[in-house]
Amino acid sequence: MLKNDSTDLFEKLLTGNSQALARSITLVESQKAEHEVLAEEILEKSVPYSGNSVRIGITGVPGVGKSTFIEAFGQYLIEEKGKKVAVLAVDPSSTKSKGSILGDKTRMMELSANKNAFIRPSPSSGVLGGVGMASREIIVLCEAAGYDVIIVETVGVGQSETEVKELVDFFMLLMLPGAGDELQGIKRGIVELADAIFINKADGDNILKAGEAKAAYTSALHLFPPVDSGWQSKVELCSSIEKSNIDGAWKVIEEYADLTKGNGFWNANRSEQMSTWLNHALEHRILKKYLGISDFNERFEKLESQVLKGEISPRKASRIFVDQLTSS
Ligand code: GDP
Repeated sequence: MLKNDSTDLFEKLLTGNSQALARSITLVESQKAEHEVLAEEILEKSVPYSGNSVRIGITGVPGVGKSTFIEAFGQYLIEEKGKKVAVLAVDPSSTKSKGSILGDKTRMMELSANKNAFIRPSPSSGVLGGVGMASREIIVLCEAAGYDVIIVETVGVGQSETEVKELVDFFMLLMLPGAGDELQGIKRGIVELADAIFINKADGDNILKAGEAKAAYTSALHLFPPVDSGWQSKVELCSSIEKSNIDGAWKVIEEYADLTKGNGFWNANRSEQMSTWLNHALEHRILKKYLGISDFNERFEKLESQVLKGEISPRKASRIFVDQLTSS
């Protein structure tokens, strides 16, 4: 590959060329040393062009209707609001095992065929620094390519929501009709993270149950203490199949943006997210450097087993570990 490839690639990226975007994403996800320089160059060039999108996190248990909702919502944003929409999937299972909850089935067929949509499955497994690190960089690339709504989708099973919350401006939880049951599938803490809860499948025989769920969540949310954003989380009904109240989701997000851009929270939150990114990037680089040491894993496992047996504390183990690394 030629040295000035990053300029060519970046120019194509800026025009919104989706192949250039896909190629740039592959580069920043790559663990290969020969991609490192190019990835960093593309990212540096993209940063000044980033930040202008609305970043939305969407979560919910498998089967709640996330892909159906995103398909309807994405099409609404493109057709009715003239937006360009990027959808990124964050799948906690893909880093731990080969099986992927989000990646396998053919999803969002219509949306993915739309020239103003870009859909990217989970970052490849084993990305150092976690899926959050890769997604952060991918968001920047999508923004440079002109996408003005970025949807980050994750499965609501409790592993990646906090990570996704740190990536987005607005966090939305999709729920099933029927109060009670769904609380078993979704961790309580996730309800607290949500800026909006949309009870999906509020159609046909579900309408009554959906209304009950709305009432239950509205009163549950009022028990949570007020948050720094000054925003009161909303609970609404929708049907992704009938495409009802899909516009309502965008209205809520616009309301949130108006409020938090006005009171300074929007920017404060983004700055905090940048600091988190820096922290993750540092951890990532330090780990990567020391993972290069051939017996890194053996040393780690030995100390880990001593900790698990209660022979030494994690505090002491971490000191021994770092002392060994820095003296080697
Ligand atoms: P995901 O696993 O959360 O992405 O869920 P899917 O979008 O794949 O939807 C799971 C099932 O629920 C599919 O059979 C959908 O057709 C169905 N579904 C999704 N949204 C709605 C809705 O608004 N109403 C009804 N009745 N079914 C829905």
